[in-house]
Amino acid sequence: MSSPTRVLVLNSGSSSLKYQLLDMRDSSRLAVGLVERIGEQTSRLKHTHVTDGDTREQNGPIADHEAALKAVAGELSRDGLGLDSPELAAIGHRVVHGGMFFTEPTLVDDEVLTEIERLIPVAPLHNPANLTGLRTARSLRPDLPQVAVFDTAFHTTMPESAARYAIDPRIADRHRIRRYGFHGTSHAYVSRETARLLGKDPAEVNVIVLHLGNGASASAVEGGRCVDTSMGLTPLEGLVMGTRSGDLDPAVIFHLERVGGMSTDEIDTLLNKRSGLFGLCGDNDMREIRRRVDAGDEAAKLAFDIYIHRLKKYIGAYYAVLGRVDAVAFTAGVGENAAPVREAAVAGLEGLGLAVDAGLNAVRGDGPRLISPEDARVKVAVVPTDEELEIATQTYALVEKNSH
Ligand code: AMP
Repeated sequence: MSSPTRVLVLNSGSSSLKYQLLDMRDSSRLAVGLVERIGEQTSRLKHTHVTDGDTREQNGPIADHEAALKAVAGELSRDGLGLDSPELAAIGHRVVHGGMFFTEPTLVDDEVLTEIERLIPVAPLHNPANLTGLRTARSLRPDLPQVAVFDTAFHTTMPESAARYAIDPRIADRHRIRRYGFHGTSHAYVSRETARLLGKDPAEVNVIVLHLGNGASASAVEGGRCVDTSMGLTPLEGLVMGTRSGDLDPAVIFHLERVGGMSTDEIDTLLNKRSGLFGLCGDNDMREIRRRVDAGDEAAKLAFDIYIHRLKKYIGAYYAVLGRVDAVAFTAGVGENAAPVREAAVAGLEGLGLAVDAGLNAVRGDGPRLISPEDARVKVAVVPTDEELEIATQTYALVEKNSH
């Protein structure tokens, strides 16, 4: 029998489970879906059998991740794509925090689970859900390779000068405080695809990747290796995001505690969930913000300007870090869709060789594309990210390597 070629990708959030089943012979999707509001009365499973274009929904309580994965397995079985299929090669799991320990996709065993568990203090929101997904999948198919693909892994190549905060290293090391970075799967995929778009080997090109979704991060990628990224110990650092503040003077926190009388948890919620674009103007969706800006709304305009100012600072900073830049790539929900953001972020940077062609920028398209003028010294690109495909590719490559 020929070797199995399908990979199931699981992305377990605190109350959700996203999944995609891919066939790695041609990277095609066979099924995609999402379970939302796990643990509530109003849980919902939405499943699409891509080949048939058939979409089904289940509404009603799904108690936990185990029940969610069993429900997903049931839907896959109905399409003849069940977890027991001999064509399933592996399950690839997105794991948010791999610390310093996990620099590559890793075959999951008991030791790996213990290490991911040890990282919970630095990723209290994400790693517990990821672990539940891993454990549940293992219990359903103990014989199947399960691979953990870490959001932090791509950034472990950062030099110490970029990864360390300027604090006492003994204290930092005791508490594992350093800049880890996130969205690594996306930065890896997009930097590679950008090189492909330029017709070059990733090892030859320097790229600034701007992953602008509801969460947002920038990275400086030198010859395929990450040398700096904007998120830090947690995803709070860096760019202005949908609901996160990004960079601020850490003394703001002391001030809110001492003078504002807020608790640590209240400040955590404020900065992670009620700041950024949402905190500034009450909306975190860039479409709505642009609509309000165009209608003359001052608060939305200020929010947009602060967002762009920060973005521009990071482009400049990473230009300096890299020394030579071949391309700036925009990706994720905002980066792929919001032409005004791309235009404003690059405006005034002609001196750095950066420019956007208004006509090309306005064209909506699905695939990777250049939006800079033909003779631009630094190319500006829109490169749709595909984290699921990257997780599946890394998972399959590891399983293939181990089977030979
Ligand atoms: P992501 O986290 O990558 O799924 O991105 C989600 C965000 O992308 C949303 O919160 C919106 O702000 C933004 N977005 C999605 N579609 C558009 C669009 N057509 N124009 C502008 N922003 C968009």
